Amino acid sequence: MADKRDYYEVMGVPKNAPEDEIKKAYRKLAKKYHPDLNPGDKEAEQKFKEVNEAYEVLSDKDKRARYDQFGFAGVDPNFGGGAGGAGGNPFQGMDFDMGDIFDSFFGGGFGRQSRRANGPRRGSDTETQVVISFEEAAKGCKKEVSFTQVAACKDCNGTGAEPGTSPKTCPQCGGSGQVRVSQRTPFGVVQTSRGCDRCGGTGKIVEKPCRHCGGSGRVRQNRKIEITIPAGIDDDQVLNVSGHGNAGVNGGPNGDLHVFVSVRPHPIFERRGNDVWCEMPITFTQAALGADVTVPTLDGQVSYHVHEGTQPGDIFKLRGKGIQSLGGRGRGDQYVQVTVEVPKNLNQKQKELLQALDKAGDDRNYQKRRSFFEKMRSWNDKRQK
Ligand SMILES: [Zn+2]
Ligand SMILES: [Zn+2]
Repeated sequence: MADKRDYYEVMGVPKNAPEDEIKKAYRKLAKKYHPDLNPGDKEAEQKFKEVNEAYEVLSDKDKRARYDQFGFAGVDPNFGGGAGGAGGNPFQGMDFDMGDIFDSFFGGGFGRQSRRANGPRRGSDTETQVVISFEEAAKGCKKEVSFTQVAACKDCNGTGAEPGTSPKTCPQCGGSGQVRVSQRTPFGVVQTSRGCDRCGGTGKIVEKPCRHCGGSGRVRQNRKIEITIPAGIDDDQVLNVSGHGNAGVNGGPNGDLHVFVSVRPHPIFERRGNDVWCEMPITFTQAALGADVTVPTLDGQVSYHVHEGTQPGDIFKLRGKGIQSLGGRGRGDQYVQVTVEVPKNLNQKQKELLQALDKAGDDRNYQKRRSFFEKMRSWNDKRQK
């Protein structure tokens, strides 16, 4: 823990960076260091973990506020997680989701929203990444993804009370989770309500905390699920997996899991919308005489006839050989751009053959060249007048 880097430093963002900036930085870094994109690279793996830990805190409004205030101690990842239950953490045994208290500590919107703190609340969303190949993106696939999720503790059924005991109604707020506060303002005394600090807004007090979850009622767990990635997904898109986020509170529904998709670049194909582009080198002779060539497509190799007199940069289209449109019908096309390779390292015999070809030919073999010289001549003539 001693040489842990500051979370803002890890993310490369300033302390006052808005949410969006942090999210952007995270996606960039998570992609850069993703183990699937850096196989066998221990340093990248370490960085990947570091980035994920930093993001887990900085992406969460409450955790970020705690981190800003108390540093690493405020956001100990073992926090509420049972094992050891080391002391020194000012929040030991309290709920993960202290949104309400923290809103009131840090001037957030608690009062304005005036929601009931002990009513059902939806869990927050979680995130993970998945790296897939170009072909998998084009055709869709099933992938196992792993992520961490906050779930209700099984030992105490999420109550936070040691099995056999039950939480008591909070005497300070009478179980409502809120207390009324009178505030003196220029307009007179205004009554507002805020989260009860005795019970943390839950309306309940746990006298004997559950040993497994430390009284928070919630545990952090690693999970793996298989998800279906639809055909046509593109790099940097996000899949929403409903109900696999963090557990809700007081019977509220789970949040969602957001899966950030990275698509590995392909050695031959490039994606443009739903079309696939590739460059295809052919020989000087193939271009001049025409030839049957083998073209790679997402469906395997196909044969294509390159016509006589094909020029460098000519593009031909293979209809329907592109990428399935995401959530829609139809597929894009494949475009193949021809490059003509001029032969190098010619031996004496080959050189003589080419010279013979040149001698036997004339201007009509080279229309572009002929028209170029015609334009040049007429331009020169005009200048001299
Ligand atoms: Zn209370
Ligand atoms: Zn428990």
